[in-house]
Amino acid sequence: MKLETELIPLDRALLAEATDGFLPDRVIDFHAHVMEARFYAADTVNPAFAGRTIDLARYTAAMGLLLGPRLVGDFVFPYPARRTDRVGVNDWMIADCRASGTSQRHWLAALVAPQDDPGLASEWLRDRRCCGLKPYHLYAHDGDTRQTDIEAWAPEWMWRCCHEHEALLILHLVKDASSADPANREALLRLSTRYPGCKVVLAHVGRSFNHRTARGLKDLASRPNIVVDTSAVTECEGIKLAVDVLGIDRVIYGSDYPISHVRGRCVTAGDSFQWIYGEEMNNPRMTLVGIESLLSHRQAAEDLGLGRAEIEKLFHGNAQALLR
Ligand SMILES: [Zn+2]
Repeated sequence: MKLETELIPLDRALLAEATDGFLPDRVIDFHAHVMEARFYAADTVNPAFAGRTIDLARYTAAMGLLLGPRLVGDFVFPYPARRTDRVGVNDWMIADCRASGTSQRHWLAALVAPQDDPGLASEWLRDRRCCGLKPYHLYAHDGDTRQTDIEAWAPEWMWRCCHEHEALLILHLVKDASSADPANREALLRLSTRYPGCKVVLAHVGRSFNHRTARGLKDLASRPNIVVDTSAVTECEGIKLAVDVLGIDRVIYGSDYPISHVRGRCVTAGDSFQWIYGEEMNNPRMTLVGIESLLSHRQAAEDLGLGRAEIEKLFHGNAQALLR
């Protein structure tokens, strides 16, 4: 698998199919990653991205391939990997934003782990320009974390911290059933109720890479401070279900760059999901995850009969309202 830096004719044709007459003039990318190689431990980053520096300028140029001048803002956080120097990479991202000359178009979230200093997380939110925290399951412990309880990787102090600062908490759910898992549901309802100022973002439509798990969102709809981003979702069914049960105001477009620039897609497979990549399948006719995702958004919008104002909310208005 490879990070693509230019589009081939096949990509351009499918991108036009996804975007022409559909995407609004202004788009905010509500989920994207930056990274700087020196803060990552050896062999902890996907080889397609290892050793790279993705600063805000490089990210913006790369997303411009898909969105062109429509891309007017972004919500970015460091790429999460095991044993990342989180303080180092967060400080680097904040400094890059300040030096970028385009700081007004970037919103930042700091990468955090349970063992990190809550005081420092508060400082990032209060004084250091961040408006969210990005925990990740890999920081729960050194073993297999795919079935871990939410509070093992997003403990209560993170919720309290986001509540106090009215900040965003970006959660990539784990466990097979994701948002439909009873323990996940219980923790999400309890903590989002106890900390109503915490704006909870369930990434990847509540990690509904298997679109059937998006059914779990129904039980979370009663909590107004829970929204989903659609990043790296390449099937329309989960997006449709999210709009159906949460309403159009709580579903927000994101790219998951650099994942968006890999040739592949993710599909529902039994009670699981499967990432498939063009090179591994030896299929040169596959396109980028980000283009598959835009095609899925368009399909979802058409199936749901969304109007212009609703499409604008999905790609811009909802993000702007949360990032204010
Ligand atoms: Zn991501």
